Amino acid sequence: MKIKSLTTYTVPPRWLFLRIETDDGVVGWGEPVLEGRAASVAAAVEELSDYLIGQDPTQIEDLWTVMYRSGFYRGGGIHMSALAGIDQALWDIKGKALGVPAYELLGGRVRDRIKVYSWIGGDRPADTAKAAREVVDRGFTAVKMNGTEELQYLDTWDKVDRCLANVAAVRDAVGPEIGIGVDFHGRVHKPMAKVLLRELEPFRLMFVEEPVLSEHVDGFVDVLRQSPIPIALGERLFSRWDFKSVLASGAVDIIQPDPSHCGGITEARKIAHMAEAYDVALALHCPLGPIALATCLQIDAGCYNATIQEQSLGIHYNTSNDLLDYLVDPSVFTYADGQVRIPTGPGLGIEVNEEYVIERAAEGHRWRNPVWRHSDGSFAEW
Ligand SMILES: [Mg+2]
Repeated sequence: MKIKSLTTYTVPPRWLFLRIETDDGVVGWGEPVLEGRAASVAAAVEELSDYLIGQDPTQIEDLWTVMYRSGFYRGGGIHMSALAGIDQALWDIKGKALGVPAYELLGGRVRDRIKVYSWIGGDRPADTAKAAREVVDRGFTAVKMNGTEELQYLDTWDKVDRCLANVAAVRDAVGPEIGIGVDFHGRVHKPMAKVLLRELEPFRLMFVEEPVLSEHVDGFVDVLRQSPIPIALGERLFSRWDFKSVLASGAVDIIQPDPSHCGGITEARKIAHMAEAYDVALALHCPLGPIALATCLQIDAGCYNATIQEQSLGIHYNTSNDLLDYLVDPSVFTYADGQVRIPTGPGLGIEVNEEYVIERAAEGHRWRNPVWRHSDGSFAEW
């Protein structure tokens, strides 16, 4: 079997799908995208195709190594997202060629379902509490919200109070049993992160995500280690080498690599196993589309430390299209009792509706995240 072609499709709401076809007709799908940089990742996939066309798609470890190491320059969001989507499609092809799910080729599964959480917003207490109640009524047992609006290095206590009011409203609405994750989204600088982590202690949170940007962890280790709230981060780290110092710091309790940004199944599993050696949990980042979620579930199936899975159904980004629109059989992601079953079909376990992908790619997208400003006119992290 040889790789014959690689085709990318830019599809709404903000995704990029990759179709790899082989000379014997087996087709694999991947989702190589960095949100807001879909065209750059598509170009990187196209460049990597020079080597890939004509290669045996089943030799994934060797292809991964060549794609990672052979360009001299390596790593970062664009390169590792391109590599990720290609790797996903290769696992899809190999599984389909052999008639087994990818996890079966990776040692089998340690679970047949995993807990999921739902996004509930976070900008206004009344809305956030209502959204939390609604998703809990639909069976979710965990939710995630944004903690704050934009925050200056030193900001005012009314913003801290609004964050606390927001989280309190959600806790009141859902009761003590529901997991609440609060995402600081890299918006918070060290001085305010210290304050917020302390003030949020009474709410018994599931975790705080990106309390500071990953690149500031080394200067914040003492606070993070001492926080009684579990600390999660990792969506902006792209490889084993990026995670190495974060894990060694002892500051992080849950890592959140994104298998569409960190080199696919091959690399995400290695990162997960590194984390297991530090007794750190895995909660794969996935605000993306159906191929990305299917990929995550193949990894969750085989990684003992996988704890909870993000998924994007109904997330605020999904306006023109949602998670299930591009699947032949959307029931593959049916959630029950706050969990989703690991798909057991061959490859990534889903069937992509190719006709609909082509139809929506004609519209495409140019999704960009908003640019925020502080009241003094300076840039604010979103
Ligand atoms: Mg996040």
